[in-house]
Amino acid sequence: MSEQLESLRKQLDEINLKLLDLLSQRAALAQQIGEVKKKQGINKFDPEREKNMLQTLVKLNPGPFSDDTVSYLFKQIFKASLDLQLDNHKKELLVSRKKKEADTVLDISGATVGGARKQVIAGPCAVESEKQVFTVAKALKEQGIDLMRGGAYKPRTSPYDFQGLGEEGLKILRKAGDTFGLKVISEIVSPTDVEMAERYLDVIQIGARNMQNFELLKEVGSAKTPVLLKRGLSATMEEFLFAAEYIVSRGNHQVILCERGIRTYEKWTRNTLDISAVPILKNESHLPVVVDVTHSTGRRDILLPCAKAALAAGADGVMLEVHPNPSVALSDAKQQIDVSRFETFMKELRSSGLLEEKLV
Ligand code: PEP
Ligand code: MN
Repeated sequence: MSEQLESLRKQLDEINLKLLDLLSQRAALAQQIGEVKKKQGINKFDPEREKNMLQTLVKLNPGPFSDDTVSYLFKQIFKASLDLQLDNHKKELLVSRKKKEADTVLDISGATVGGARKQVIAGPCAVESEKQVFTVAKALKEQGIDLMRGGAYKPRTSPYDFQGLGEEGLKILRKAGDTFGLKVISEIVSPTDVEMAERYLDVIQIGARNMQNFELLKEVGSAKTPVLLKRGLSATMEEFLFAAEYIVSRGNHQVILCERGIRTYEKWTRNTLDISAVPILKNESHLPVVVDVTHSTGRRDILLPCAKAALAAGADGVMLEVHPNPSVALSDAKQQIDVSRFETFMKELRSSGLLEEKLV
């Protein structure tokens, strides 16, 4: 290597270090600005200020870089600083693992979710009658299951479809829960029903269609009952975690996140099960994560492999729909499984070893 090249490279290395030092100083200042803005409640991204800074830099550009290149380079620096501020913000979310490292373990009247025991949450799509719910409850108990689901307020696509039994349905669910020693979960769709629902339920479910019903989220956030929050039909991870933050920030820390598939162009499943959501949510958040294999797939024939995939990916449990006679079910008739299929499902899931207690 020629001496000249070596000397030029040495100068370049020194400039790199100076740039690094200046960039780091700049980042620290941007963070301080972020803090001040936060206190004043001002938006972190200020397009007007960014435009002015770029104009000044371009005006004073000595070359040899073109004005466009100078703009491009500084835009990257501005973006990196903004990302840093947003990252800090993310760190502060109560649902974030950066805020609380240890897994949150819910104790639902003695049944844990998020701890060593992986849970299977099962039950009919909708509560239809006492007989129907009791038949399923008995089958669940025989399988050693702790948590039963059943919808009383059904958010149906068509207003002419069965809308659920309402409070009457919650009463049936509670009665079955008390009779068979099961904890009961049901969806609530209106903020004004939350107080009433707390009298019957061990867990309040917020459905996919209501994931961003912020008034409902605030109401369950002020309640004492644990919440199972389903991912919205096309919600991003960030939107999902912010929805959970609405609940936790109001004081209710007992939240279970439920992946239930998202809308894509694929038609061979009802929704697309986003299995990658499981490890992402587990990494990003300390909250328990479960996967609804029924609504994500809409197919009985792939419930088992999807449940295995969910548990293998780190989910704390799976949810599925079980009905005594799915062909006459008042909702989701095509996707619910009968008791005998459920027993086979449980047997095979157990024999896979994935339902064994997690190592703690
Ligand atoms: C349900 O679990 O009963 C339900 C309606 O599911 P989702 O909100 O995920 O569509
Ligand atoms: Mn259903």
